[in-house]
Order: sequence, then C-alpha cells, then structure tokens
Amino acid sequence: MVKENLEQVRENIKKACEKVGRDVSEITLISVSKTKPVPMLQEAYDAGSRDFGENKVQEIMDKYPVLPQDIRWHMIGHLQRNKVKYIVNKVFLIHSVDSLRLAEEISSQAEKKQVEVDVLVEVNIAQEESKFGTSREEAISLVEEIAKLPHVHVKGLMTIAPFVENPEDNRKYFRQIKELSVDIMKKNIDNVSMGVLSMGMTGDYMVAVEEGATMVRVGTGIFGERNYNI
Ligand SMILES: *Cc1c(COP(=O)(O)O)cnc(C)c1O
Repeated sequence: MVKENLEQVRENIKKACEKVGRDVSEITLISVSKTKPVPMLQEAYDAGSRDFGENKVQEIMDKYPVLPQDIRWHMIGHLQRNKVKYIVNKVFLIHSVDSLRLAEEISSQAEKKQVEVDVLVEVNIAQEESKFGTSREEAISLVEEIAKLPHVHVKGLMTIAPFVENPEDNRKYFRQIKELSVDIMKKNIDNVSMGVLSMGMTGDYMVAVEEGATMVRVGTGIFGERNYNI
C-alpha cells in the first residue's frame, strides 16, 4: 500500500510541476512517518524514499539506528532546547527553528559534536494561535540573528498552513511565504540561503508545489491515517 501511495503522490507532484512549468527534480518529497512503525518506513525506503520527517526527538532516536544509514532525517516538529543534543548529529535538516534561543542551543551542541547544522526558520504565516513559528514581521530579524551563529546555517523557510477542506484556501499563504523568502534572499545576508521552501502536506501539497515549494511533507497520503491512541 505504501508503495502505491508513494507512486500516486509522486505522480501528483509531477502533474503540479507540469501545470506551472517546474522541473520535478526541484521538489523533495518528505515521507512523514511519525507514529508509524519501522516496517512501514522500510517499505517506503524500498520504494525509493530517502527523506523521512518526524516530529518527536524520541522517535528519531528509536528509528535512526534500525533503518538504513543513507536516510535523511528531517525534524519537522516543535523542538525543545533540552532535547537538541540528542539529534543534532542525526538530522539532515531541522525545519522548526522559531527562536534565537533554540538556534543558539543548536549551534552550541553542533560545536560540541563537531557538526554543522542546516535549519529552516518556521513562520506562522496565517498567525494561528495554536501554531509555533515566528511572525512574518519578525522573520527577517530572526534570520539575521541566526546568521551570526557559527554552526547553524539557514537554508530557507518552513510553514504549516491552516487545516482547510479546500486546498485553494491556502494558496494565498503559500504565496506570502514565497514572497517573504524572496525578500530575505534579496538582502544577501551572509551565511543565509533561501533555496528551501518547506510547505504543503497531504491536503494541499499540489497547491504548494504550484506556488514554489521545494520540500513537501506528506504523511497521511503515504502511510494512511495516524492513530495516536496506541
Ligand atoms: C504531521 C505533519 C505533516 C504531515 O501531515 P499529513 O497531513 O499527514 O500529510 C507535515 N508537516 C508537519 C510539521 C507535521 O507535523
């Protein structure tokens, strides 16, 4: 099932690319495997997936040692500063940096482990109370501050759009974050690139691709519904 789902999602991404004249190689599909058991991740791996997204430090620590080492782990959930040390040398990209204090902790733990860590700044583009992320207004100054840290490198922006029935309702937010990333790019800040735009989930990834996403994070569409009660 996972294999068929993956193929379907890839096909949809291809269609969205064709619609707006983008090359499908510009988009990385992240298989969001939170709450899912290792055999399901292995299935996705066998079907060609190398990028996996998790939102809990513990789950990354459990899955990391038992799955192939060429997997790129993406930390996409809220990250507590006291847990940074456990994953700083295991993850390919941290999508959820929303404060200078968190970025400082990542830099200091990275120094201890002698690694360099790539991060995205999470922006709460729809200004939802329930969501983490910096505001659009604060994003630029936050990026400028993080840029000064030695072992952290800002590679772009991430956003979690509102949960909507109709994905078209999120198009405006995807556009806004794309504009924000272009604004930041134009500032030519040292140690900052804006090549990555992580946006779009199962309900709206095609619209996100049309609006410039370079990473889409798809969970349910690949692994099925999640059961949080087990
Ligand atoms: C769970 C999660 C996803 C995937 O959500 P689906 O709707 O299942 O595709 C994407 N991004 C983040 C940050 C998540 O926590």
